[in-house]
Amino acid sequence: MDIVILAVVIAVVALGAISGLVVSSRKKKQLPPAPPSSPSVTAPPAEPHVGEEAEAPTAKPRRTVEEVELPPAEAPAVEEPVVEPEIAEPAPAEPAIEVPEPTAGRLVRLRARLSRSQNTLGKGLLTLLSREHLDEDTWEEIEDTLLTADVGVTPTQELVERLRERVKVLGTRTPEELRLLLREELLALIGTDADRSVHTEPGVGVNGEEKPGVVMVVGVNGTGKTTTTGKLARVLVADGKSVVLGAADTFRAAAADQLQTWGERVGARTVRGPEGGDPASIAFDAVKEGIAENADVVLVDTAGRLHTKTGLMDELGKVKRVVEKHGSVDEVLLVLDATTGQNGLVQARVFAEVVNITGIVLTKLDGTAKGGIVVAVQRELGVPVKLVGLGEGADDLAPFEPEAFVDALIGD
Ligand code: GDP
Repeated sequence: MDIVILAVVIAVVALGAISGLVVSSRKKKQLPPAPPSSPSVTAPPAEPHVGEEAEAPTAKPRRTVEEVELPPAEAPAVEEPVVEPEIAEPAPAEPAIEVPEPTAGRLVRLRARLSRSQNTLGKGLLTLLSREHLDEDTWEEIEDTLLTADVGVTPTQELVERLRERVKVLGTRTPEELRLLLREELLALIGTDADRSVHTEPGVGVNGEEKPGVVMVVGVNGTGKTTTTGKLARVLVADGKSVVLGAADTFRAAAADQLQTWGERVGARTVRGPEGGDPASIAFDAVKEGIAENADVVLVDTAGRLHTKTGLMDELGKVKRVVEKHGSVDEVLLVLDATTGQNGLVQARVFAEVVNITGIVLTKLDGTAKGGIVVAVQRELGVPVKLVGLGEGADDLAPFEPEAFVDALIGD
């Protein structure tokens, strides 16, 4: 009898184990694997994990910086069992979301970084103009100083002509008069009327829905393009905007990782795809994601290589056209490395052939005496310099303000 009972018990236990296995294997099958090649959206780590916002396909209210920075007030929808871990392993520290510096006055704060241009352009010119006798040799030296600082031939000639006229009228010159005169003329050369704001205002998409401001960042790899995209995200977050990043530079290995890291630091999502994937589809998906989550701005990083002009450069045109299927691209920023001088101007020309550049970002102005490139590149493209890079620090990107720039060069 006992043996019969024992056999029944064993049979029941065995059946239970088999059915348990079947259920758990079914459960596993219910979780579809993520498609490996489709662009993925990576959420910043400090976002709430429950009811993850990025995954909801419906439009949500616009997120503010405060919302990004603070944990949600409401209780999580899924209750987690309160189990105290026996051994509290130190959890891997999630990077805290940073609060970027306000953008106002950044150029003034960073003015010391312009010291090389300051010595060449500003102080160099003032010293020459202060000479008692402004003979032909001195004027030639003034011209050389401007050319060395990459101001460009035509603007240099114009400036020297204006200075000659005004110095003659002035007669005796005090240092203060000379400084004011040079300030006025440099400002006239750079221009104070241009609209230097980065256009990021939301608009209306092709389906009548609200569309984030869309900014494409273009330029040759190595100029600081991805870094600038990351820094610009910080500028926008500092100004209270929510940002989605599109990692469409699939040409350079690690560009997407680099951008994602920048995004995570300020709570911005990054839409990315496989290395070597189609940049246009990533850019398209980034804007789609921006629309879905009611972001204020979508920044799209792109790839650029001049020596493969017909490949990557045509691709750039395609990225823009594909993004425009959602609605307008509001800003196309060309990133130029200020230390490359004339080479930068050649790059500017090539990019302007492929996309309609609306603003220039001059990077690495901290590492050059060639601050005059501001003048030359604006003349070349007929487009204003909107931002300047003055270092490798996260907040070393400043809105370009002609007055602050000139004052930094010649002292105030
Ligand atoms: P990309 O290939 O154009 O995307 O170039 P990256 O964004 O990777 O930048 C190339 C290098 O330039 C990096 O080491 C950046 O830190 C550096 N860089 C970018 N902007 C500036 C700047 O304004 N000043 C300085 N000194 N370095 C910069």
